[in-house]
Amino acid sequence: MSKVLIRAMVLPMTGSDRFYPRGEVCIENDRIVSVGELGSSPSGFLPDRILDLPNDVVMPGLINTHTHAAMTLLRGYADDLPLMPWLKEKVWPFEDKLTDEDIYWGTSLALSEMIRSGTTTMLDMYASMDQVAEAVIKAGTRAVLSRGLIGNGPNGEKALQESLDLFQRYQGAGAGRVSVMFGPHAPYTCSAEYLKKVIAEANRLGVGIHIHVAETLDEINIIQEQYQKTPVQWLDDIGLFGGHVVAAHCVHLTSNDMEILARQHVCIAHNAESNMKLNSGTAPIVELRSRGVVVGLGTDGASSNNNLDLFGEMRSAAFQQKLRMDSTVLPAYEVLEMATVAGAQTLGLDDVGMLAPGFKADLITIDMDQPHFYPRFSIPAHLVYVAHAGDVRTVMVDGKFLMEERKVLTMDVHKVCQEAESRAKRISAELNG
Ligand SMILES: [Zn+2]
Repeated sequence: MSKVLIRAMVLPMTGSDRFYPRGEVCIENDRIVSVGELGSSPSGFLPDRILDLPNDVVMPGLINTHTHAAMTLLRGYADDLPLMPWLKEKVWPFEDKLTDEDIYWGTSLALSEMIRSGTTTMLDMYASMDQVAEAVIKAGTRAVLSRGLIGNGPNGEKALQESLDLFQRYQGAGAGRVSVMFGPHAPYTCSAEYLKKVIAEANRLGVGIHIHVAETLDEINIIQEQYQKTPVQWLDDIGLFGGHVVAAHCVHLTSNDMEILARQHVCIAHNAESNMKLNSGTAPIVELRSRGVVVGLGTDGASSNNNLDLFGEMRSAAFQQKLRMDSTVLPAYEVLEMATVAGAQTLGLDDVGMLAPGFKADLITIDMDQPHFYPRFSIPAHLVYVAHAGDVRTVMVDGKFLMEERKVLTMDVHKVCQEAESRAKRISAELNG
């Protein structure tokens, strides 16, 4: 039994009018027991541990709804290139050299960065997902994992089998912190026949599907040429949107596409910074949200971002839509919702993303006693427009502390950095001499 009491400014993300300037959160084992004003803890609640952080905001941990964690190993390896040369000449040859162990350490690097920037949950898509799962279990975070499936490639069938194995081995692992989705890569890398197989398996096992959709104009042209449809129309026609689906990017959409996504309750992983860096375009997030579509935030992989900092992502997502439309769209609180409540919905997790009784104790505290946070007119505005990764003081997942006073407790960050450095440099040397 462990009982923790956190006294701080509380932003529970249960409604824009809810904020406790002097509040407290009670946690028992892995769950939140109560949230409210100072002194609101249930009678008889005797904490083993009290955190007095009156100048910190405590809020739900941030949720990264689309990433390729192990791609941290490619951070800074290939930048400022057009999309296709970037992929074909730099990213894919590098990825061909990755061993299972490299992926473990690359993922661990991503997870240590995520913990230090207040991200408690990710939706990942990559290969060697057993290694990713082990890294997540060790780090103590929460994750939904999808084996990337290139149906048109030589390993399409093998990768599908690996998805089934991943489900068998890791669904519910790490005391329930790990779950599995299927990860068909994109409409232009999977045939209809292959996708139908994936859909059947996902339905049989009751798990979701995580796919890149309408990311670039190239993709729109390829699918138009092949099927005379938009990617969204085509996926809808083959039945992909029947179950829970996370569509990453969705940059280039027609209004009919948006109607389909809304009608089929498809959730969107919005990756503003990756879309900017790769010159993919600006996703119509305001229009999607106005149709009731759930939109979470993602960083995408570290080779197209190049960090995994969701605070930066919130700021970029807000500013990008304001630039495209007008300054009133996507106010700060709504952006915070995208990074928390809507992120949880996107991942199909119904007991994280808010601080509320009965919810999992996945939370972070942010040190607001720093020059860049004064004067403190609006906490939501400060969190979206001012805060950055380094402001996170405390991270808790499933009731366990993963970071205190900026020290990561579950992994040896120095060792992770050294391993990542030597492995990335080894691959670079193999490729470039
Ligand atoms: Zn991606």
